[in-house]
Amino acid sequence: TRKRLLMGNWKMYKTVAETRRFVEDLQGLTQKTPLPAQVETVICPPFTAIGELVRWVNASSQPIGVGAQNVHFAAQGAFTGEISADMLADLGVKYVLVGHSERRTLFGESDEWVQQKAAAVAAQGMQPVICVGENQDERDAQRTLDVVEHQTLTALNGLAASSRGADVVGTAVIAYEPVWAIGSGRTPAPEEAQAVIGAIRQCVARACGAAAADRIRILYGGSVKPENIASFTLQPDIDGALVGGASLQADSFLAMAQAM
Ligand code: 13P
Repeated sequence: TRKRLLMGNWKMYKTVAETRRFVEDLQGLTQKTPLPAQVETVICPPFTAIGELVRWVNASSQPIGVGAQNVHFAAQGAFTGEISADMLADLGVKYVLVGHSERRTLFGESDEWVQQKAAAVAAQGMQPVICVGENQDERDAQRTLDVVEHQTLTALNGLAASSRGADVVGTAVIAYEPVWAIGSGRTPAPEEAQAVIGAIRQCVARACGAAAADRIRILYGGSVKPENIASFTLQPDIDGALVGGASLQADSFLAMAQAM
């Protein structure tokens, strides 16, 4: 059975001081209502707040993992402004988002880059969180499954080619985030999200085998909040959620962990 996973993607929000405040708020709230043991929780802050968050997680008994929102695929080199997987692993990062739709559309990341990034993350023993999803035009043209299957297979190819192939694929995470649902307050019906995520799991089974498909966790993302999270995570193939806006406050983050 797959452990449920709640991931907060803070995007470009929160300074170190604001991160500390979140942590203090969560610390206070969890004295009454602890984070549920059956849910794995992860927060992906901006790079500048990763160190602070790791220090706090290590110093407290909170079962929270720390993730990063992006990475460069090269091991090192003359890449001004970039950060390698090795540097993130060194900080104590466990998960790295790759191919978030904002990276793809605003920063021109291709499927091939996403593939290289996922491989670089896995090679450092961290878990890549491969983000896939169709935009409004693709949805209108009924190309959703084509788009997400192509994005998924391209990214997984880099992992499947590595030495421990199917094992590595099984420990990865896929986040299905319809682009039109991100930050919009609109979501697909939970059954629609289930249909796409079920298709992604079948596609992983065909490409990497049934064991990997059974193990890989697939999340839904896009306008998730405490009020709707359970409708998604009750679906048989949806193992958790990747949350933007509603992960920025400690009370709603905790409420989502409890509701799922
Ligand atoms: P919202 O939850 O704010 O819609 O953002 C979703 C997202 O992009 C998470 O990666």
